[in-house]
Amino acid sequence: MPQRLMLCPVAMFVYCTLSVLRVQEATAQEYLTGIEWERPPVVTPGEKCGDPPSDAIVLFDGKDLSRWHNAENWKVENGVLIVGKGKLVSKDKFGDCQLHLEWSAPTPPQGSGQGRGNSGLFMMDRYELQILDSYENETYYDGQAGAIYKQTPPMVNAMRKPGEWNSYDVIWTAPRFNEDGSLNSPAYITALHNGVVILNHFALLGDTPFNRPPRYAPHPEEGPISLQDHHNPVRFRNIWVRPLVPPKGKQVRSPYLRRGDQEIPLEQP
Ligand code: MG
Repeated sequence: MPQRLMLCPVAMFVYCTLSVLRVQEATAQEYLTGIEWERPPVVTPGEKCGDPPSDAIVLFDGKDLSRWHNAENWKVENGVLIVGKGKLVSKDKFGDCQLHLEWSAPTPPQGSGQGRGNSGLFMMDRYELQILDSYENETYYDGQAGAIYKQTPPMVNAMRKPGEWNSYDVIWTAPRFNEDGSLNSPAYITALHNGVVILNHFALLGDTPFNRPPRYAPHPEEGPISLQDHHNPVRFRNIWVRPLVPPKGKQVRSPYLRRGDQEIPLEQP
């Protein structure tokens, strides 16, 4: 036992010394990207989840429809927007963006399948994220709430009861077209329904009509948001959008390692 007691402090010393050397080794070298990044803009978040952040473009705040075309044919009652005649089209146009929207299916529910609480959120006025009363309402899966219409169902059905408020949070990447009009990269959508992820970076196959396969046709880099009139009095509130601007930086030199005052170029692959 005495021998063991003697070894313990020695072993501890060796262990501690090795640990210090390892930390020194890890901290002595730093990787630097060679990119000069711009300072990211400061954004004040909304007070509670779903409230617009300070840099959001608020398309509907419960008061007026001045940011929309065809507003005269839709109505606002008690701070709520109700589907009217013809689609409602935003005057603002967006490319890549984050969008928040709240909607409520009519109550008591009327109709069934695609005829029950049907509307739609059209990104760039072409690509429909389905709005439908999908609470205990059977229809084809790629046409239920949260579907990219006729392309994919949502991963899950996170629908609230008719009359209750649903939220959609969308992260949208616009499609890119080459100069000759061919597709460079498809549109991508990530979407949350009531905080639940229903679409995860889904690559759209094209637009979303009822009567033919999806296809891409070249269009401008930005387009309006539109809301569908499908003859059901679906209600909306709290609609806002944030254009997405990637972080800006300039590669001012090649990436390198720094060890003290020494700069070590990275080996070229
Ligand atoms: Mg629809």
